[in-house]
Amino acid sequence: MAEGVEGVPVRMVLPVPAILCESCRMCCRFTDPSRAPWAIRGGETRGFPAGYLAPLSLRLSPCSDLPEIPLESCTGLDRHSHRCTFWGEHPADCRIYPLLLVYRENAFRLVLDVDCPFSSIGTEIFFREQAERFLAQEWKTLSPRELSLLEPFARAEDSPHYREVLCLPDLRDFSARPTS
Ligand code: SF4
Ligand code: SF4
Repeated sequence: MAEGVEGVPVRMVLPVPAILCESCRMCCRFTDPSRAPWAIRGGETRGFPAGYLAPLSLRLSPCSDLPEIPLESCTGLDRHSHRCTFWGEHPADCRIYPLLLVYRENAFRLVLDVDCPFSSIGTEIFFREQAERFLAQEWKTLSPRELSLLEPFARAEDSPHYREVLCLPDLRDFSARPTS
């Protein structure tokens, strides 16, 4: 999502070229609030992993850029620079985009949103490497409870046109669950 201020990111960020986002501006403003970052989408976020939250409380606010289109923008977006004000610490679902975390066919998966122009610029190997980086740096640090909190959001996130990149291990102990 939107590129940010100069500096070293605190967490993993997919290196989408700033010039591409500048010409595209598809991110951070939403016609459909259900596509906003998970932290502001509604639902149970207490106990969410820190990497999926922002350093500031976020919400959507009406956006006057294109009055003919009902748009809402994330309050983390600087309206003048069109950059994320806390880039590098923005939520994981923003930082890894155009990769998305979904829950499909009983597994968490990282998929690629082919609607982002960068998806056709980066190679298959590049996105696979980025997905493996996310697995090593962030996914493996999550607790079973955090995975369970993410699951409903990941389920709602999926769309048939997203292309699978990597299936992620589910570290929850399903053997402890009662069978029906
Ligand atoms: S859709 Fe892709 S290219 Fe466009 S602003 Fe978002 S990350 Fe950047
Ligand atoms: S948190 Fe930052 S990158 Fe994410 S939607 Fe808001 S402004 Fe955009």
